[in-house]
Amino acid sequence: MQIFKEKALLTAYLKTIWDKNCAIGFVPTMGALHQGHLSLIKKSLAENDYNVVSIFVNPTQFNNSQDLEKYPRTLEIDIEKIRTICSDCIVFAPSVDDIYEGKTNSKSFNYDGIEHEMEGKHRPGHFDGVGTIVKKLFEIVKPTNAYFGEKDFQQLQIVKKLVAKNDLKVNIIGCPIFREANGLAMSSRNERLSIKDRDEASIIYNSLLTAKEKFGTKSANEVSNWVKHSLEKNKNLTLEYFEIADETTLKTCIRKSKHKKYRAFIAVFIDNIRLIDNISLN
Ligand code: AMP
Repeated sequence: MQIFKEKALLTAYLKTIWDKNCAIGFVPTMGALHQGHLSLIKKSLAENDYNVVSIFVNPTQFNNSQDLEKYPRTLEIDIEKIRTICSDCIVFAPSVDDIYEGKTNSKSFNYDGIEHEMEGKHRPGHFDGVGTIVKKLFEIVKPTNAYFGEKDFQQLQIVKKLVAKNDLKVNIIGCPIFREANGLAMSSRNERLSIKDRDEASIIYNSLLTAKEKFGTKSANEVSNWVKHSLEKNKNLTLEYFEIADETTLKTCIRKSKHKKYRAFIAVFIDNIRLIDNISLN
């Protein structure tokens, strides 16, 4: 396994690969790796000649300084986890200074409005930070294929827009959500949940499953009201939003159309830890 902590060293190494005209798979992460991340790496391994995994906690996408400060950083353990599935992966774990060169700011992006929905409304500046780091990483790695989880479905759509609008030469591949046995979507933030909280957090996925079932016969508004009321009963959990939205535009579904694909999206706080999840309703 090759581990690089500086972009200049990584690009010097990648130069020998770019010339070979091989497929390079790229999995960008913020570390604290779990089975969800590893499922993306496994897909990349199956589809590419070379594989790059980045581990970088990107400061510009955090709108809450406490969240950034408390974000788990476990580089050595992460490297060992990657090694269990891949002995020749290229790991890129740069410093903030190496990436931002003293100017830790976001660029401003226009994603045709999808940045103003859900996560965009509740995390001001988040998608500018995501666009900034993803574009920088794509320019450094120059991957053929890049893998993103549907766990962050809005982010996946944002990255597809970023690529289309900037005419970037990379295929964006969405990967299914990996879950704990109780249905909780795997997330690096789950590390901060107590055992009791983790247990209770299964209500998030259960609500999504019931929402999916109800959406067959009820309106989006009725389903949303049902979810809001049922979650209100749980005092340990605060609902930030529940939305049923068009999968492409991410606009709230007012009236169902047979020709559109819909998804339910949820964000909750459990003990001040923010968790998000989503499910396809079609
Ligand atoms: P993160 O380290 O949280 O920035 O995530 C890195 C990548 O892994 C993103 O594309 C996420 O959507 C993806 N990811 C995170 N959790 C999961 C999961 N439970 N299942 C599938 N993909 C995930």
